[in-house]
Amino acid sequence: MPARLAEVHHAHEEEIEFHTLTNPVEFIGDEDGYLVAMRCIRMELGEPDESGRRRPVPIEGSEFETPVDTVIIAIGNASNKIIADTTPDLEVDARDRIIADLETGQTSKKGVFAGGDVVTGAATVILAMGAGKRAATAINEYLMGEG
Ligand SMILES: Cc1cc2nc3c(=O)[nH]c(=O)nc-3n(C[C@H](O)[C@H](O)[C@H](O)COP(=O)(O)OP(=O)(O)OC[C@H]3O[C@@H](n4cnc5c(N)ncnc54)[C@H](O)[C@@H]3O)c2cc1C
Repeated sequence: MPARLAEVHHAHEEEIEFHTLTNPVEFIGDEDGYLVAMRCIRMELGEPDESGRRRPVPIEGSEFETPVDTVIIAIGNASNKIIADTTPDLEVDARDRIIADLETGQTSKKGVFAGGDVVTGAATVILAMGAGKRAATAINEYLMGEG
């Protein structure tokens, strides 16, 4: 669980139930398309991978359904692929992170600036705010130059 101990503690305090080693595989709707259940599968820890982390592997035949009416998928920090798919002249790296000048936020596309997690990968609020401030200065200079 990639979270700080204090975060786990607070979640327990708020009576959040953890179902570790459980993976959702399907959302099930009723005849009107409203969500009614989620099918999950139990996992177990397999052999360690190259990083030494034991990868979870599904336990065959362990699927079960649990009733739900709302699901929030809150996993991972990957970039939205829509950027790379819709803006071919905006340079991105192998993980679809926008390539931008770290001092100005200028990207490969004229007049387009970027900063924060979509440039650095998962980082912190303070770093994203810093990038925003530097980009604001650079955008101002860019607009003055254009005018
Ligand atoms: C669980 C968790 C805990 C964290 N805890 C901390 C912490 O304690 N301290 C800390 O400093 N940092 C923490 N972070 C990291 C921090 O949240 C990020 O580094 C920071 O939010 C990055 O800011 P950002 O503006 O770059 O991106 P975001 O905050 O992710 O903002 C990007 C915005 O763009 C929107 N967006 C995406 N695609 C599109 C699109 N196509 N069109 C329009 N809008 C779009 C998104 O909806 C989102 O609102 C945490 C992150 C997570 C996930």
